[in-house]
Amino acid sequence: MAPCCRTWAIRTSPLPSCVAGVAKSLEREQAELQGDAQPSTSQEGVDSSTSEYWQELISTPDSELFGSRARSASDAAVLRRKGHLKEQDKFINFLQEMHRTHTCLEVMQKVEQWALEHHRSPRSSRLKRMVPSLGSFFTPLRLVDAFMEYDEFFALSRRHFIPPNFAELRHILNIAQIHASATSLRLVTFDADGTLYADGAHMQHDNEMIGHVIDLMRAGVHVAIVTAAGYPNEPERFEERFDGLLAALRYQPKAVVNRFHVMGGECNYLLRVDRGRLAFVPDSEWKSEFMASWREDDIHELLETAERLLLEGAERLRLPVSVVRKERAVGVVPSAPTIYEVLEELALTVHAGLLAGPTPNLPFCAFNGGNDVFVDVGNKSIGLEALMRYVGVGPAQALHAGDRFTDSGNDVATRDCCSIIWVANPEETDFFIKILLADIEKREGRWGNGGPPASAQ
Ligand SMILES: [Mg+2]
Repeated sequence: MAPCCRTWAIRTSPLPSCVAGVAKSLEREQAELQGDAQPSTSQEGVDSSTSEYWQELISTPDSELFGSRARSASDAAVLRRKGHLKEQDKFINFLQEMHRTHTCLEVMQKVEQWALEHHRSPRSSRLKRMVPSLGSFFTPLRLVDAFMEYDEFFALSRRHFIPPNFAELRHILNIAQIHASATSLRLVTFDADGTLYADGAHMQHDNEMIGHVIDLMRAGVHVAIVTAAGYPNEPERFEERFDGLLAALRYQPKAVVNRFHVMGGECNYLLRVDRGRLAFVPDSEWKSEFMASWREDDIHELLETAERLLLEGAERLRLPVSVVRKERAVGVVPSAPTIYEVLEELALTVHAGLLAGPTPNLPFCAFNGGNDVFVDVGNKSIGLEALMRYVGVGPAQALHAGDRFTDSGNDVATRDCCSIIWVANPEETDFFIKILLADIEKREGRWGNGGPPASAQ
């Protein structure tokens, strides 16, 4: 289900008026925010003398704090950690719970059967009753085989006291999905930041994924990058992000290059390669009737409301921000160091506020970008459905790789329309796509369009 119509169990934080002393200082805070007063102790009775030390702790790179020891998990990284909030998923949590009474092998044996039943009857399956928020499985998942494969290297079954953690279960699910998807795959889509390259970076010439992307397309698979980044009428801004890949595509045959697309602004812009450059595909060629029906007045109203909610939320959280407004998106970027939890709170607050309305009946995606919080018009599910229709593939033939599948992430919507793999970083994407390519090679026994894999050349 798309975030726009998802029923979220959100418990908002206590209102500022619940915090002792805050009501008294509201006027003063307002003045501070407007720059009319000197910053001072934020709450009565709270000693602000440590604030500069906190600031230093969250803004200093780990390695500069205490030399090599700072690389341990006990240092500044703990404050900026993304692990806990990035690892929330009711299905994986359910698997973890089962390990209280089952071995990992027993869990996989049971869940594989339940998942098969769910694949056939997603609305009335036993798994759906146990995990009500579970979406669809578009392929069967051979979880026992995936567990055996994982166990071969990590010896999970030899552990007597420590059950698999969230990431280990995520890896097993990914392996099962990769093997299942490889048999009929015709479209792979990648999130960009955090999946193909580090947050805020670009796809440069030495990116390992370039060879893999080309190998997939040479094997006859369509590839698209589906990203929140949106630059209307500025294809060169997209080119800057993927310049390394675009340079490599210049040496590929047209039939291969034609299998590459970029979907920007979650679902608002589609680009293809035309004579070595990225060019927008005319809306009439790919947008659904539903997307074409969005009115500019409604989009403006949605973004106005979102901007107001973002600023109100940031003010409540005492987070100084600057606003970024685009044609189909609005976001805030902190202008002072902060931590992931604050951005998460802000993203969920804005999402809840937009659902509470009154707002135009438009789909939207309010998400924590890791370094910012944005609200985009539409979401990746709508974009992927349009793309799948455009290239002519069905849900079981498509696979999306992304790093943000929690409720505040912008990849979660893709679960509504195709299979997914959930990665934690670009290194994991590289790893899983290598497995996928090996499977496709086994499946085909040869490479589409001839020639060895590009990464082997
Ligand atoms: Mg991402």
